[in-house]
This record gives sequence, C-alpha cells and structure tokens, in this order.
Amino acid sequence: MKSKPVMLKLGGSVITVKDKVLTPNTEAIDRLAGEIADSKVSHLVIVHGGGSYGHSIAAKYKIAEGFKGKHQLIGFSETHNAMVSLNKLIVESLIGKGLPALSIPPSSFIITKNGRIHDLPLDIMTHAISMGFIPVSYGDSVLDHDRGFAILSGDQLISVLAVKLGAEKVIVGVDVDGLYTSDPKTSPSAQLVEHATLEDLEKLVGGVSGSRAIDVTGGMRGKIFELTLPVMKGIEVLIVNALKPGNICRALSGKNVMGTRIVKG
Ligand code: ADP
Repeated sequence: MKSKPVMLKLGGSVITVKDKVLTPNTEAIDRLAGEIADSKVSHLVIVHGGGSYGHSIAAKYKIAEGFKGKHQLIGFSETHNAMVSLNKLIVESLIGKGLPALSIPPSSFIITKNGRIHDLPLDIMTHAISMGFIPVSYGDSVLDHDRGFAILSGDQLISVLAVKLGAEKVIVGVDVDGLYTSDPKTSPSAQLVEHATLEDLEKLVGGVSGSRAIDVTGGMRGKIFELTLPVMKGIEVLIVNALKPGNICRALSGKNVMGTRIVKG
C-alpha cells in the first residue's frame, strides 16, 4: 500500500445511547460522518464498537463465555445481527456524505483462538483501501477454535489491524476527553493525562501504580490493554472525545486536539 492508513475507532458509548437497548445516537453518527468527510483523509479504516447494540444480547446468552449449549446459538446470531444493524446505520450515514464506505463483518473472515485473533486474512481489506474504499468493521460475535465462539472487541480488532496494515496512527473516539488519572465519570478530582508512553501503559495494564498513580477501570482498561500492541510497534495512539463536535475532524486532519497522546517512548 502506498500511504499508511489512519485507523479510527468509534466507541460504542459515542454511536449508541449506552443505557437504552438497541438505541443509536443518530445525531452523533451523522455528525461524525460529516467530520470524516470534511477531514478529506485519504486512506482510512473505521472500526466501531457495539454499545447498547452488542452488550445486552451477548450478556443475556453469555456469548463471551463460549459455547456451553445449543440454546446460545440463537443468541450468537442475534448479537451478530444487532451489530449488522448498527454497522448498516454507520455505513449508510457515511455513504450519505459521499464516502465509499464498505462494510467488512469480522465474523465472516476471523476465527479467534481463546478469544484472541491469531490469523487475520488481510487481502480484502488491503485491496479495498488501495482502491479508495473506507472499510468499516466492528466488534462482533465470532467463531472461536477453542471456545466455539467468542466476543471480539472493536479495541482488539483495531489494534491488530493497525499493526498488520502498518497504520500511521490510531484515533480512538470515546465519550470522555481521554485517559484520566481515574474514571472522570465517578471521580471529580480525575485529571486528564495528555501524554503517556508505553512504559506508562504497561504499568497500568500490569496493575502496578506508576508515578502518576492512574486508576483505569471498565471499558478504558480493556482499551489500554489492547492499544499497548500498536504503541509497542511505534504506532501513535490518540484518545479523544468524539462527542465533542470537531474533535474527530481535527484529529484526522492532524490538527491539535485535547486528548491523550500515547507514544512508544
Ligand atoms: P467505548 O464504548 O466508547 O469503547 P467504554 O465505555 O468501554 O468506551 O470505555 C470508556 C469509559 O471508560 C469512559 O466513559 C469512562 O467512564 C471509563 N473509564 C474508567 N477509567 C477511566 C480512566 N482512568 N480514564 C478515562 N476513562 C475511564
């Protein structure tokens, strides 16, 4: 591929209303599609999360725990189908802004091993990017060699894709301004960490409290765990608030945005 693609993660907390089952945040989806179009970024790959589309059905049927009985099969199908519906909304919104978005469902090209990607056929993705398409993939219920099936998070997918595609950078859009010293939703004294290194991330994931004493929990903890991989390979990661209008356009255009910049060292 001639130029390195930029990877954009759209968090489930941004594109859905998280506490309302199967409810999209259509206003955010359309605004973000407009921002992506305005940025005029040339090689882009989008991965989105599930938010209120993925989690409730997957949790009801315990899909993340793997195959335990036939009663779960319908739950696997429903989880994937809900993600297809959300993906369709995103792709339609991008197409509406004149962008050649192309849906690439993970469950049709990835089988995990114990919940982890071990083999990632890239032909379709690289071909699509070099032709000028914008692949739009997502966190999904996928088949698994060891457990029967598993949940592949959008964070794992974008991190592995970024490395395999030799991405320029990974922009992670969430519903807070970046990585904080503790969860900003529950801790009023939380401070934004504007710059972090691989060493900082490893301390966070390993549970060792670093000099900054960062307390990372919930969805952000999983994100930091996965994002360690691209950072380790020298790919810069930027965590920004995608609910704030203009942030994603600015980040895609390489302009300065409030957020957390994570680099190797
Ligand atoms: P998404 O669904 O957008 O991928 P998640 O909701 O899974 O994102 O994760 C982001 C959430 O993680 C934030 O909204 C925040 O409440 C929580 N969080 C926990 N600890 C931290 C921290 N130290 N810094 C920032 N966010 C944190």
